[in-house]
Amino acid sequence: MLFDLHTHTEISPCGSLTIGEILANAKRLGLDGVCITDHDVMEAGRHVREGVQADGLVVLIGMEYATQDGDFLLFGPYESLAPGLPAREVLGIVGETGGAAVAAHPFRRNRSVSEFVMDSGLCRIMESVNGRNSSEDNERAKAWREAYAPHLTGGSDAHTLAELGRVTTRFSVSVSSRAELIAALNAGLCRPEVLRAENIFRPGPKAVFPKAASF
Ligand SMILES: [Zn+2]
Ligand SMILES: [Zn+2]
Repeated sequence: MLFDLHTHTEISPCGSLTIGEILANAKRLGLDGVCITDHDVMEAGRHVREGVQADGLVVLIGMEYATQDGDFLLFGPYESLAPGLPAREVLGIVGETGGAAVAAHPFRRNRSVSEFVMDSGLCRIMESVNGRNSSEDNERAKAWREAYAPHLTGGSDAHTLAELGRVTTRFSVSVSSRAELIAALNAGLCRPEVLRAENIFRPGPKAVFPKAASF
């Protein structure tokens, strides 16, 4: 199943994508599922019924949690999780509560993830392709792929409809609930997949996407 694992709605201060736009367009864009990961809140769950929609689209609620040591996509029972906790504490909570944490865009300039979270084993899943990253920032994730062999995901990081589904995660198992998503992520039954590579890179002399084999 093909998911956009990283999307922001207008609930995020920086987002303009609406839940209605996700519901109306995701299937058309080739997606089987969308995870809504607004910044530090899971409020989208109050506006859409989580799970399988009438047309078969799976909508699941997570969040992108900001720390001084990087941003993490969190999936689990974190509706009441206080914002602003240190990465070490948040990742500890995720481990204790059976959730899943993905190091988001680990090499993005100004929002990079501190290496200790991978080195310590606190985080074992990495977003190796992000639709808002430069190709260079995505390429730099290769060093951690080789050093730590984390499970890998991709996500568009969409803040607008035009970005939805550009970069996705392919699951090799069926995912229709938050619990199934967490299990699949933690088991590594996932890999990044770029649906519309032409969109994800800023114009520039090196705007060439690496071969899929190098993800
Ligand atoms: Zn944002
Ligand atoms: Zn994001």
